[in-house]
Amino acid sequence: MTDGVRGDGRKADELRPIKIEVGVLERADGSAYLEVGGNKILAGVYGPRESYIRRLLEPNTGVIRCRYNMAPFSVGDRKRPGPDRRSSEISKITADALRPALMLENYPRSMVDISIEIIEAEGGTRCAGITAASVALADAGIPMKDIVVGCAAGKVDGEIVLDLSEDEDKEGEADLPVAIMPRTGEITLLQSDGNLTEEEFAKALDLAIEGCMQVSEVQKEALKAKYTADMG
Ligand code: UDP
Repeated sequence: MTDGVRGDGRKADELRPIKIEVGVLERADGSAYLEVGGNKILAGVYGPRESYIRRLLEPNTGVIRCRYNMAPFSVGDRKRPGPDRRSSEISKITADALRPALMLENYPRSMVDISIEIIEAEGGTRCAGITAASVALADAGIPMKDIVVGCAAGKVDGEIVLDLSEDEDKEGEADLPVAIMPRTGEITLLQSDGNLTEEEFAKALDLAIEGCMQVSEVQKEALKAKYTADMG
């Protein structure tokens, strides 16, 4: 950072340019396409439908399954296709981040499948994936208490900054991905990679929540744009 300006020209508390489009897939029940910085992410939702997997079937509630997948061409060095430790972890924490918003008890014996495809990655894909998946769930008409939203903050060159790019993630001292339910402020994801003092942690968490609130507005605008267009 030089004179308060980051490598890509942003201020410390500035998000990368972001756009969200709702209902981009014909065959999914709900879908969303999201770009933030150099990330390109597609989320598709199927369900709720009757669970055909016996071991997943819960008599009193619905269940969600989530798959986060990086395309081989999404990163600088070709990624080996298929699941790995990182994508399994992100699939799990994404499901955990989204579940509190869903009223799955209304759908006993059912399941909801969420697919997140990272077409291009440039830092912050887990948060962006959660943001896109939540919009896709809303597009699928699944009743939700709130639209979960994700955004990270972190520390780069000793400064607390919002929404780390891939370069900042690599060179930086810490990364703090956060997801919240914006209406109540309930935190549904909080991870921390790197070292932060207590004071820095508090500052980064506040900044990430502030970023989430901004991204939440973009989610709402995208949903409004889709549904006002459908009605017109
Ligand atoms: N990345 C990569 N190859 C991989 C995994 C990640 O190039 O196999 C890049 C990608 O741009 C990603 C960034 O490193 O967004 C940071 O990855 P991290 O594991 O911190 O997760 P993210 O920030 O995407 O949630």
